[in-house]
Amino acid sequence: MTTALYPGSFDPITLGHLNIIRRASRIFDQVVVLVMMNSEKKSMFTIDERLALVQRVTKRLPNVSVVTTDELLAEHAKKYEGAVLVKGLRAVSDFDYELQLALINKKMNAELETVFLPASEKYTFLSSTATKEMARYGADLSEFVPVEIIDDVIEKTKHRRQT
Ligand code: ADP
Repeated sequence: MTTALYPGSFDPITLGHLNIIRRASRIFDQVVVLVMMNSEKKSMFTIDERLALVQRVTKRLPNVSVVTTDELLAEHAKKYEGAVLVKGLRAVSDFDYELQLALINKKMNAELETVFLPASEKYTFLSSTATKEMARYGADLSEFVPVEIIDDVIEKTKHRRQT
């Protein structure tokens, strides 16, 4: 069985992330979305909230599951036999960073390969950071995040404004 692990912070999951998940789910037998803690970025949603949002938008994809871990990715990947990492690439800037991560992961776990999928043209501009920025200005989020989670992003943005 071929398993793709798709790691990210998903704060929140965007249409670009979902596009990668759908495409990976057609290539691999199973896709495991790994909602990672990110010590570099201050997140808008808690890890449990991010996990629940990813679960909600992927629930109709039968070979997709969602988990979280605080383990090092290269260690956690050992739990899935023969798994590969899937990453989306939006631009050359993603490539520089992702190549470095791929090499580090390979160094930590020699079995662990990384496969890159090019971002779909219409989602190249999309990031969780841009989504949060748009939400702060009350912009229409339907081009950014799956419709099922728009209200969650709006609510969270309002709450953050008050605090
Ligand atoms: P972001 O970079 O938006 O904060 P993550 O850290 O959660 O998102 O990224 C997880 C993975 O998803 C990375 O491989 C990243 O390059 C990829 N990704 C993010 N946004 C998109 C997009 N719009 N299209 C394709 N891949 C994407």
